[in-house]
Amino acid sequence: MFCARTERRRVETCCCNAKRAEARWTRLNALQRVWGIRRRMHPAWWRRKTLRRTHAVRQWRRRLSTFNQRGVYHYNELLHEGHRFLEKRFPSALWHGDPLRPEIALTFDDGPSLRDLDAILRTLDAHGAVATFFFIGAKVAAAAALVRAVAAAGHQIGMHGYRHRPFTSLKPTLLRLELRLAQTLISRICGWERERVRDIRPPFGVFTPTTLALLERWHYRAVMWSLVPFHWRFAAELSFEQVRRRVTAGSLIVLHEDMSDGPTIVELLDHTLPIVRQAGLRTVTVEDMWRARDATSQHSELS
Ligand SMILES: [Zn+2]
Repeated sequence: MFCARTERRRVETCCCNAKRAEARWTRLNALQRVWGIRRRMHPAWWRRKTLRRTHAVRQWRRRLSTFNQRGVYHYNELLHEGHRFLEKRFPSALWHGDPLRPEIALTFDDGPSLRDLDAILRTLDAHGAVATFFFIGAKVAAAAALVRAVAAAGHQIGMHGYRHRPFTSLKPTLLRLELRLAQTLISRICGWERERVRDIRPPFGVFTPTTLALLERWHYRAVMWSLVPFHWRFAAELSFEQVRRRVTAGSLIVLHEDMSDGPTIVELLDHTLPIVRQAGLRTVTVEDMWRARDATSQHSELS
């Protein structure tokens, strides 16, 4: 179709639009002469720019990861010191087991994962290990069969919030409701009494004294950790090294389902569990650690 006025071929735009576009193009040409702007209109320029940016991002990522891999030991030390301080400040939460017992607890956060959980269960079974799973309430309904399998295999199940929101960002009434919902879902699926699901790992490990007081008032128990391998971020050897250097009697290890980038969780378990066995340690659930802690405190009260 041709425009009657300009006699140019216009398919979609009318001649008024064509005129406007022409004017814009003229203005751009003028700008190009003055500022060199037209260059940026060209797709090749954008392509080159994107490539340059991608390259720069990759370079920075590489540099940062090298830094992190070297710095992770220091970070670990800092975490360890931090834990020792927090442990004294908040003794009502469980930070580790009894260092006099040859036991460690393996815990898994952020599940149930449709991708990882089945493989984790098989690996734990192959090594004869038990673990505690802190499930996100909202994910539980979609993986009911897996949750049942976890319960049937004799592992413990706790909660990791309903939506993985930091507890400090929720109002107490909402927090109570969400925890109750997660607890009901898990206990119904497993056919347990609701009180059996009462261990909670706060998402991101974030809590305040008020949060802890609230959890205690609602008859929940807060469970933290003493060792966190960064397996979702760092190379496999680094995570194995982290476990090898730090694992001791009473360690409460936290691992994460549904995380990629680092070694797969199964790979990590396959390396970690023999290390644990060689160190003369056995795996227990968080419930066992609580029981041991209660027994120790009762014993020290009596003597
Ligand atoms: Zn989490």
